Amino acid sequence: MPKFDRNSYNLEGKVALITGGARGLGRNYSIALSMYGADIFVAAENEEGWDEIREIVEANGRQIGFIKQDITKPGAADTIVDAVIEKFGHLDILVNNAGIQIRNDVLDFKDEDWYKVIDVNLNGLYMLSHAAAKVMAKQKHGKIINIGSMQSYRAGKRIFPYAASKHGVLGLTRAYADALAPYNIQVNGLAPGYIITDMTRSLQQDPVRGPEIREHIPSGEWGVPEQLMGPMVFLASEASDYVTGVMLPVDGGYLLR
Ligand code: NDP
Repeated sequence: MPKFDRNSYNLEGKVALITGGARGLGRNYSIALSMYGADIFVAAENEEGWDEIREIVEANGRQIGFIKQDITKPGAADTIVDAVIEKFGHLDILVNNAGIQIRNDVLDFKDEDWYKVIDVNLNGLYMLSHAAAKVMAKQKHGKIINIGSMQSYRAGKRIFPYAASKHGVLGLTRAYADALAPYNIQVNGLAPGYIITDMTRSLQQDPVRGPEIREHIPSGEWGVPEQLMGPMVFLASEASDYVTGVMLPVDGGYLLR
């Protein structure tokens, strides 16, 4: 019989694989999950931020592993999941956080940029989910958390492949949640709203879009990365075991308007 107590958020003994988990918002997910007891495995293309996140995770009393891989390369997903299993022996939580965005005007948009974004944000995410699901199905438990965006729901008139990929992430979250429920694997998404990060710096400073966005947010404020950490822990923990197939917006109410 499922129970609820203070331990329901405890992630001790769990292993979380986080793509892009050493910098940007991914860094916050690594910190949050290790704070609640999970060991962390980071897959990224570059080594930026590795030393710092190692220090933080180890200060939280947890172990950390790394692999340098481009998630769009054929075979990368299996290589990454194999490396997690080799280091830790199991994989309990996958956070599909790696993502890129390319902006351009509609008639100038380049085909190669379409393919680049779809490849990281959707194909890479699918391949890793598929590789992780095979391991989690054997374990008879797992959590897959896909990072969506406001563009999982809304248009983005200079970021077409980004909007298409993030809508796709929502669709895959639902389909995978349905397909993997019999294996006790929950598949959910987290959709950050307008969060103050490097990725959004130019938007914050844009004299037109900056104020427009703030006025559209019912809370009246852009978010900060720390505000995504609690929802991430919830979706990774047993407290959310009866939640599957949802994309949780963390947006100060942006989508309400
Ligand atoms: P960053 O650009 O700061 O970080 C992106 C991360 O993805 C990096 O760690 C990068 O790895 C990794 N990555 C990109 N391409 C690949 C690849 N081919 N293979 C492996 N790793 C890769 O972005 P954010 O932290 O801002 O965004 C993280 C996620 O959150 C994205 O999915 C984004 O769409 C989403 N998001 C962000 C919002 C925001 O306000 N910032 C709002 C809504 C959603 P490396 O460190 O090696 O470069």
